[in-house]
Amino acid sequence: MLTIKDVSVQYRGSEQAALSSVNLSFSKGEFVCILGKSGAGKSTLIRTINGLQPVSEGDVFWNGKPLSANNEEEARKARREMGMIFQHFNLVPRLSVMQNVLTGMFGYRPTFKNLVGWFTTEEIQRAKDVISQVGLSDFSDRRVEHLSGGQKQRVGIARALVQNPKVLLGDEPVASLDPGTSNHIFSLIKQMHDQHNLLTIINVHDVSLAKKFADRIIALKNGSVIFDGIASGFTEKEYMETYGSENYQHV
Ligand code: ADP
Repeated sequence: MLTIKDVSVQYRGSEQAALSSVNLSFSKGEFVCILGKSGAGKSTLIRTINGLQPVSEGDVFWNGKPLSANNEEEARKARREMGMIFQHFNLVPRLSVMQNVLTGMFGYRPTFKNLVGWFTTEEIQRAKDVISQVGLSDFSDRRVEHLSGGQKQRVGIARALVQNPKVLLGDEPVASLDPGTSNHIFSLIKQMHDQHNLLTIINVHDVSLAKKFADRIIALKNGSVIFDGIASGFTEKEYMETYGSENYQHV
């Protein structure tokens, strides 16, 4: 479904590659967590998958088709099939829950002109459905700036789902939330993953969340994949290789 082939990313002015010769392949239904120290390349990998980050070498293939920059049409189509949730939610604070979710109809970058009034009854119903699925029906008309962090991320999830994606990507979606809320949000993501039959790929710094929810863990170090396997296979040894023995915490 999604294949990353020999992908390297080198930022301008940077000595070391952010990703070097990464090869990965993902199937529908997998729930994958990406682990790695800060700077390991997790965020670059997620942005490479959704086409926001051009690759220096290699390519990302979506259903067999390359998404490289010279194939903008394919890339745009693929992007519409990928919902994205962010650490800082990327919502428009002064707009309501419903308005924020509706912006997801056009991909994950809010386009201000595309708000209520431009939508069909069906699209509005679809937004209502996903708002209900994330448990926010009673908050539909409330401005996002008046919501808690956990509620904001619920809006983020609903916005990612409203476009009926096949892939759900998350760039540290719980890093700004307290541990209890993080757990709730991860449970919700897993529930949505199952309900919508998605491929889900999420960066997370909390190893215990990855081990609790993921089917598969991928660990990055200095831009390379150093572990790729079932979550239970990520043991003390892999933890120490990924984060350094001085940072080991039993999980
Ligand atoms: P992570 O998400 O694991 O913290 P990133 O993908 O953000 O890692 O970063 C990987 C490497 O690329 C780091 O060395 C980081 O400093 C560098 N990097 C990330 N974004 C940029 C950028 N826009 N310009 C230059 N270097 C960057």
